[in-house]
Amino acid sequence: MEQETTTLDREWARLDKQLRDNERIWSGFRQIEVRMIGAQSFPELIKIISEGIPETFPGIDCVTVACADPEYELTRLIEDGLEPGTRSQNFIALPRPGLDELFTRPWRPRLGPVDERLHALLFSEHPCASGSVAIAPLVRRGDLIGSLNQGSRDPRHFMSGIATDLLEHLAAVSAMCVDSAINHERLKLDGLTDPLTGISNRRFFERRLAEEVERWARQSGPLVCMLVDVDFFKQVNDQYGHQVGDRVLRQIASILGQDLRGSDVLARYGGEEFVLLLPGTTVAHGAAIAERLRASVEHSAFVIPEGIDLDVTVSVGLGCLLPGGESYGPDPAYWMFQQVDNALYQAKETGRNRVVQAALT
Ligand code: GH3
Ligand code: MG
Ligand code: MG
Repeated sequence: MEQETTTLDREWARLDKQLRDNERIWSGFRQIEVRMIGAQSFPELIKIISEGIPETFPGIDCVTVACADPEYELTRLIEDGLEPGTRSQNFIALPRPGLDELFTRPWRPRLGPVDERLHALLFSEHPCASGSVAIAPLVRRGDLIGSLNQGSRDPRHFMSGIATDLLEHLAAVSAMCVDSAINHERLKLDGLTDPLTGISNRRFFERRLAEEVERWARQSGPLVCMLVDVDFFKQVNDQYGHQVGDRVLRQIASILGQDLRGSDVLARYGGEEFVLLLPGTTVAHGAAIAERLRASVEHSAFVIPEGIDLDVTVSVGLGCLLPGGESYGPDPAYWMFQQVDNALYQAKETGRNRVVQAALT
């Protein structure tokens, strides 16, 4: 009789533990789901998935997300937030055929030991995915868009034959969030990015100019603005064609974008004109930066397909809102831009390939 009670007690304790474990798992799952849905950007979503899942579920040691990224647009988004020269450990850009090879229809998760090839492809930065892995397809509107890859040191953690309902649920929510974050990023890019050069467009600049002038009025740090116009650019197009002209514009955008701080703005203002906005920069420092950029364009090699190195130069107009300046009228942004535009005109009139600074008031 006593022995029977002990057995029953043990069984009861086992069931109780299982129930609690299940409850803990689903509660962890609900929390991570809410965080994923609330992600503000694609990089943040990848961080939540790759760090949140191992934190929440015991036995999972590393998580990566792989997506088809033929144009490297997702890679660029991820790398923008990293130190220069570093790669994301948790986001993997796959060529389309590489992704298609991972799964066969009907798309189901794959569980089991990991082979060398799969490890190199999906977990190369994570030695901890050495025991077993679960690779779940991310499917959206019938399309395979990526895979959610979980690794464990324990060879028995992911074994074929175990229930995959939680895994499939996690993959479905991840797919929805990845798809929505990508679409959201594309919308942001479409509206505010110049498609030719990949830098911000005039709309973005005007928005930031208004914000920075407002900040200037509140805090009264200096605000430097410069307009950069390519010299005799029409001749490049006329002589070598628009495609060469486009390449020159892309290269200039890249030169102007080197060494900017996070708060600086570089935008294509239109045609062959670029604009820079440097908050908290003194006019003397702004002038030094303008001169460095001008010299950098002058000394860069612009080699076109024919092997010719084009002589490309720019003229720069520079203006500034001084701290505490009160003589700028009702619209300081407009006032500053007029000054910058006049300075650029002067730079063109006095010989091009030079920086002209607007008179300070
Ligand atoms: P200046 O030194 O006085 O600035 O001379 P410029 O020839 O650079 O100036 P102009 O305004 O006469 O010509 C600008 C040229 O820029 C004309 C236009 O065809 C070219 N352009 C504008 N946008 C693009 C573009 O997106 N791609 C290419 N290839 N050319 C462009
Ligand atoms: Mg122009
Ligand atoms: Mg020009």
